[in-house]
Amino acid sequence: MFRPIYEPRTRAKEYSDLAINIYNGCNHGCWYCYARKIHDRYKPTENFADVKPREGIVEAVTRQLSGGKYKDKKIMLCFTCDPYPANIDTMPTREVIMALKASGAHVQILTKGGDRARRDFNLLDANDSFGITLTCSSDETAQEEEPFAASPTERIRTLKDATAVLTLDQKAETMSFTADPSSYSWELCQEATRLFEVFKNHHNGQAVRSMVQSILKTLSPTPVRPSGGVYFVPAAYDEELQKLTSFCSAFPKGEGFKIQVVNSAESLKMVETKVSDHLESLYGQSQHAAADGSLSKSKLAEIIDEAKRVISGYKNYEGILSQKKDEMEARILLIRDSVTILMEKAGDT
Ligand code: SF4
Repeated sequence: MFRPIYEPRTRAKEYSDLAINIYNGCNHGCWYCYARKIHDRYKPTENFADVKPREGIVEAVTRQLSGGKYKDKKIMLCFTCDPYPANIDTMPTREVIMALKASGAHVQILTKGGDRARRDFNLLDANDSFGITLTCSSDETAQEEEPFAASPTERIRTLKDATAVLTLDQKAETMSFTADPSSYSWELCQEATRLFEVFKNHHNGQAVRSMVQSILKTLSPTPVRPSGGVYFVPAAYDEELQKLTSFCSAFPKGEGFKIQVVNSAESLKMVETKVSDHLESLYGQSQHAAADGSLSKSKLAEIIDEAKRVISGYKNYEGILSQKKDEMEARILLIRDSVTILMEKAGDT
């Protein structure tokens, strides 16, 4: 079976205890390339510069990692090729890194690909390493000796940009970073810190709660308790509800649960009662608003919006209502009339 994670032997072991070669061949064209010499000796009819991902490389790496044997081990990419060759799709490199990180292994990248490696910086963390190979510092010399690799200037710039460390302290709610002030990563970290402050100040607990409420309102909810917190949501919104509960649960102290209502006569009666109570309460609220001369325009708009939402959401419940259907439809008509009155009132204020 193809097992691409291997232990380098001889002097290569100085670089890393473990390695993966993702591609067959390399097209950077270094005149001194040892890998090409070996390749040409064993496969004289194949062109080393004709780079191709090794067949089934991502699946084979994933399979080999599945036993958990490589957790916390650092694995080098690559020895007999470059993880970022020129002018070909290097997604296999990204997928291999993702598989390694998902398994708890760490990555040690060594490349002459320069900017091509930037795409994968967001997968790396403080346990990983990013290295470049430099055989000379002159771009002109490199152009002759490694014609299709990134220039030394580009490689050094990429290395500088790879060395930023951005730290988020969830408890203290702070974000800090270390980076070379002349690098692009410094600019990125500064922008991330700025956005974090914006997020912290504008998406605090209260803002998130109101966001959740706004999303919930689009799902035709019927409150189970007058104080809220528990709602019936029609099955038509199952997918959206799943996303909302996952969103709520993603916060350290957040909780959101979706519990299927059993399709029994008793459950249906409970839903029917709650829909009826909701309509009743909304009607009372709109009547009260119509009689209250002190309500602000925005409060009136809020009640009108809520009434309209409930009227249009009622159709989601129609199919399961039986006993109180006529009564509820009459209530809907009354709420509709109230909305007309409230809209006129809102226009006058
Ligand atoms: S980058 Fe490495 S593998 Fe590619 S040609 Fe140069 S020496 Fe060979």
